[in-house]
Amino acid sequence: MAFDSTTAITAIAIIAFVSGGFLIISGRQFHAAPTAAIWGLSNLFLALGIPLLLGGGRYELGFLCLLTNAALAWGSLARFENRRVPPAILIATGLIWIALTLVPETSIAYGIKAAVFLVMGAGLLLGAGLELWRGRAEKLSSRWPLMGLLVTNAVAAFGAAIAVAPMLGEPTIPGGGWLWPTYLVAMVFLVGTAMFLVSLIKERAIREQETLAATDALTGLPNRGSFMRSASRALDMAVAAKQPVAVALFDLDRFKAINDTHGHRTGDLVLQRFAEIARRGLRTADFLARIGGEEFAAVLPGASAELAVAVVNRVRTQFAESGMAIDRVPIRTTVSCGLAVVEPGGAATTIDTALSRADGALYAAKAAGRDRVSLAAGATATPAPIVRIA
Ligand code: GH3
Ligand code: MG
Ligand code: MG
Repeated sequence: MAFDSTTAITAIAIIAFVSGGFLIISGRQFHAAPTAAIWGLSNLFLALGIPLLLGGGRYELGFLCLLTNAALAWGSLARFENRRVPPAILIATGLIWIALTLVPETSIAYGIKAAVFLVMGAGLLLGAGLELWRGRAEKLSSRWPLMGLLVTNAVAAFGAAIAVAPMLGEPTIPGGGWLWPTYLVAMVFLVGTAMFLVSLIKERAIREQETLAATDALTGLPNRGSFMRSASRALDMAVAAKQPVAVALFDLDRFKAINDTHGHRTGDLVLQRFAEIARRGLRTADFLARIGGEEFAAVLPGASAELAVAVVNRVRTQFAESGMAIDRVPIRTTVSCGLAVVEPGGAATTIDTALSRADGALYAAKAAGRDRVSLAAGATATPAPIVRIA
């Protein structure tokens, strides 16, 4: 089948135009709108640039559109990663373009001009790809195909630069359509980038929603739902690994009085302070959450009763000594804690059972005078009194 260049170019321009419009419109659905909108605009420049570059003989204008297209693609991804395209690069690209445009045709061959433009365009696309690479710590699966498309297109542009460099006269489109790989790359790039960019933005939006739904807004800690899921998983894993696991329930002492005396805002600060102390005081493997008003819970995988008591007691003392003061009036803040340790080889336990044992121990800690840690008796042991550790 003969490959008609003019048809292919027209098709590419139409795809660029449609995908550009699609990105601009779909960008409005997300709060990350600028990312999609900027890329959409970039495609519109491509839609304009391709016919100018290959069809109309106005290649200098065409290249300007293509450079703008690549710069906007970079700008879009830089925006996505909360960065900016270095202005020096944009200025340098613009200046080189102006300089090459002003040089008369007689003193510099078309091929050289085209090659320089293509190399600059490829550089800008690689810059866009680099943004995705630098942001790779945020695990988004669409990042990789999008990067792959950018790098492929940049490599194709480098290849084209080498191919056009020896050309002397004005550009003409070869009749046989030997440029079909270039057309194909352009089409796949346009469709692929539009799809993966939207998918990338959606992935982040969903991830943010999930995090928001699992997080307590005041302390930034995971919330109750999140705790139940993680704690249940930690319990199953510990049982499978024949390791102990401890569940701790913290309840701030006389918290209502703090609110009543110093105000709700101060109460909030105390909650944040406790969250911070507990976060720092627990081990990295431990999972801490705010499960209710002034109630926090933690799972300590692999912790024996002795270790769990030591870790939790450290949090308790640090909170008691944290010395919060409002208008130089010290506020006494203490916490009580109930601990339940699930030993390996014991009877099958669910997180609900472990929590209710910890709750029983917490109740005992409160009854015994607060500001202390109580350890629930083992589930498998014969009923034993709750151990109190002041
Ligand atoms: P105890 O030592 O027996 O635990 O006494 P307590 O006063 O801490 O217990 P109580 O359950 O009577 O009071 C808990 C208080 O926590 C009541 C509620 O107003 C307050 N509280 C719950 N959520 C928040 C919050 O997000 N911010 C503030 N400031 N207070 C909260
Ligand atoms: Mg309470
Ligand atoms: Mg309380």
